[in-house]
Amino acid sequence: MRPKVVVAEPIADAGIKALEEECIVDIAVGAERRDLVARMADAAGLVVRSATAVDAELIDAAPQLRVVGRAGIGVDNIDVAAATRAGVLVVNAPGANTISAAEHTMALLLAQARRVPEADRSMREGEWARGRFEGIELHDKTLGIIGLGRIGTLVVKRALAFGMHVLAYDPYVSEGRMHSIGVEAASSLSDVLGQADFLTIHLPLTRDTRSLLGAAAFASMKDGIRIVNTSRGGIIDEEALANAVRTGKVAGAALDVFAEEPLGDSPLRDLPQVVLTPHLGASTREAQDKAGVAVARAVVEALRGELVMSAVNLDIGSGLDQNAKPYLGVAESLGAILGGFSRGLPDALTIRIEGELAANPVRPFTLSALLGALSRIAEGVSFVNVADIAAAHGVHWTEEASHDSPDYRSTVRLSGVVQGKARSFVGTVMDRKGPVLVHVNGYDIELPITRYALLVRNEDVPGVIGRLGTYLGGQGVNIANMTVGRNPHGQAMMGLNLDDPLTEEQVGAIMALEGIADARFVDLG
Ligand code: NAD
Repeated sequence: MRPKVVVAEPIADAGIKALEEECIVDIAVGAERRDLVARMADAAGLVVRSATAVDAELIDAAPQLRVVGRAGIGVDNIDVAAATRAGVLVVNAPGANTISAAEHTMALLLAQARRVPEADRSMREGEWARGRFEGIELHDKTLGIIGLGRIGTLVVKRALAFGMHVLAYDPYVSEGRMHSIGVEAASSLSDVLGQADFLTIHLPLTRDTRSLLGAAAFASMKDGIRIVNTSRGGIIDEEALANAVRTGKVAGAALDVFAEEPLGDSPLRDLPQVVLTPHLGASTREAQDKAGVAVARAVVEALRGELVMSAVNLDIGSGLDQNAKPYLGVAESLGAILGGFSRGLPDALTIRIEGELAANPVRPFTLSALLGALSRIAEGVSFVNVADIAAAHGVHWTEEASHDSPDYRSTVRLSGVVQGKARSFVGTVMDRKGPVLVHVNGYDIELPITRYALLVRNEDVPGVIGRLGTYLGGQGVNIANMTVGRNPHGQAMMGLNLDDPLTEEQVGAIMALEGIADARFVDLG
């Protein structure tokens, strides 16, 4: 059955359409809280913006919930810790509103440089006061940027087009990168504050950035500086800013974000040099559309059981290459084969990615392999909680990456000790065959990874394959594909893709056939 996704706040039509392709969509926009809680009873997904409180109560009311999608970036309205405990993935849409935020920053820079809101107010009062609103040009001025991430970088491009000189402070961005985008690297925060004619802030709100710009920072700024903040309230001390504007130290400011939102009674409201907007940085049709579509795609991927790189409650490192994604499925299958083959969990597990794949972070493959190994033996396992559940089951793992892969472009190798026996499985993705198991416990074979697999260790002598075929045929079990690998000690490994599952008795009967040393059936369904 298709999973149900509750959409609690409006998102773009294109986003709804993307959800409808794979899910039953329950539009609950404007629903009362009690109604929303009731609708969550059989929901696998929930899509919200910033108004719905996704708290422990709502998460607990949804036992089948697997993913919460936030159409936007901030997840302040989502209890991420509660979601993580419940194994629920929280995904957002980073990047959907960066252009809108950068453009709003430029709007605020220009609005205060040319005093547009003040002039507009005066016109509405019936005036025509051309002499009162002399502005200044952006051209040839120094723009100080604090925080050179996604939005800061887009602001740089736009400011350079206006002929500004850009000086940036971001200790996490290399000087080389700064130079490559046409920015001068400041050696310290005070370097920027002392030189900037305009200052714009593009920081996250963290312990380090909270109240970063207070009275002391304003005192160290160049006289007549103009400040823009479209990032987060709380970074600028609003009281200190109002004082600095009153004394003329700061010639103007434009703020889109505030320590407390909605902004209450604030001295900033009385200062004509200050331009205020009510957190409009992401409020464009385009940003909302992009966020709706991006979050819908992420929710669909999560419900398919895929690893979503934009998940906020997963620590998986930087992004994956486009070609790497199918290998996540290989890693998950290898985990399931290891668990199913040995009917147990490894005490020690090594996940190794080899060849071209080694350019990616290993963690997504580790989580996939652990998910494969653990989803049979524990309930409610997901990418979010699988590492904790594995650790609780005493599984210790090591991650390795090597650019060497002699036989295949890329491989995922899983080795571990299960119930005292060393096991190793290697998989790859082939252009025509798709995911393939290429190595099993010392034997090279090439067995496509399909739902039902039978791995048989046998004596490398005539007649054994025939006996197995005859037995399976007699049981009405169809062999879809078969491959054989051998080792130098006179032993062989048969790998079979079957169309039907085997019972324990049937596996026992196969083991009893003459010439067969071991038989393991794995159901990857
Ligand atoms: P980002 O993560 O891409 O960039 C943030 C940058 O800040 C990073 O380069 C990081 O290295 C740097 N940084 C972190 N701590 C620092 C410190 N102590 N000193 C100097 N630099 C530091 O984020 P982004 O997407 O560019 O967003 C920037 C901010 O804008 C975020 O706070 C986001 O919430 C906000 N935002 C607001 C709106 C709006 O509606 N007004 C819209 C989108 C984003």
